[in-house]
Amino acid sequence: ARPAADAEVTGPGRTADGHPVALLLNLGGEDPERAAAHDCEGVGLLRTEFLFLDRVTEPTQEEQYAAYARLFRAFGDRVVTVRTLDVGSDKPLAFAAQGDEPNPALGTRGFRTVRTCPGVLRRQLAAVARAARETGARVQVMAPMVATPQEAADFVGMAREAGLAEVGVVVEVPSAALLADRILRQVDFVSVGTNDLSQYTLAADRTRNALPDLLDPWQPALLHLVGRVGAAGRSLGRPVGVCGEAAADPLLALVLVGLGATSLSMAAPALPGVRRALARHSLRDCRDLAALALAAAGPREAREAVRGAVGW
Ligand code: PEP
Ligand code: MG
Repeated sequence: ARPAADAEVTGPGRTADGHPVALLLNLGGEDPERAAAHDCEGVGLLRTEFLFLDRVTEPTQEEQYAAYARLFRAFGDRVVTVRTLDVGSDKPLAFAAQGDEPNPALGTRGFRTVRTCPGVLRRQLAAVARAARETGARVQVMAPMVATPQEAADFVGMAREAGLAEVGVVVEVPSAALLADRILRQVDFVSVGTNDLSQYTLAADRTRNALPDLLDPWQPALLHLVGRVGAAGRSLGRPVGVCGEAAADPLLALVLVGLGATSLSMAAPALPGVRRALARHSLRDCRDLAALALAAAGPREAREAVRGAVGW
């Protein structure tokens, strides 16, 4: 059984012993006002691709500004984390040719597009900064597909130049997880993207369903990498969020908190179940559950060990 809906739990995410774990929303092109009505502490991942895909020309800075400002206003004083454009390769932009790539997942995607068309990111950052300034909102920006501390430093330089104060990166390439401590020294926060981190760690294409066991977010190798990022965050005192699908599974959410996640971002329907699970377990419980998952032989064993320990 899942955690019972006996006592309604609402408001900020916390463990049973009161340790805060911000519960945030993953958003794309949804209606901002409707999204803001959800019981959440803000937006942990705004996928901005919806503004860019299927377009013949780049959206103007004015159009981008209007979309960001509307969302920032809707969320009031709650944090909004904007992920800069994650396109290229298999999601080519008509207005920024990347050339043909035989292995698009390993190509010029995400932050790597600055190598071929830096102006697109620069204009996006300018539009986000203007919207943040004019609404007075709590805005964070983060870049996808950052692989090295140097790329993290480059992005921080661009974002600060645009006037943005809170700058982070998505950790979704194994090299970034391995050097999380060096990356965290460059940025204000990181957010672990478990969807891509899983694809790149297990070398299994996430766009096909051919290898579901390898893409299982309970894979101990993936959890070891998340734990490495969590440990780096804890020792440097920097926030480590998780914004991949793994955060939406209440049982796995407990493990992620035990591995050092300080916030969890997910689609709206997952919020109540994760909130309830956290309210029933202490941080110490979460750490014990994480140890069980890390030690398991495989994803099935990890899930069963944790499920058995919590008694659901
Ligand atoms: C991820 O990779 O886990 C992620 C959150 O981003 P996306 O699914 O948009 O690549
Ligand atoms: Mg990703």
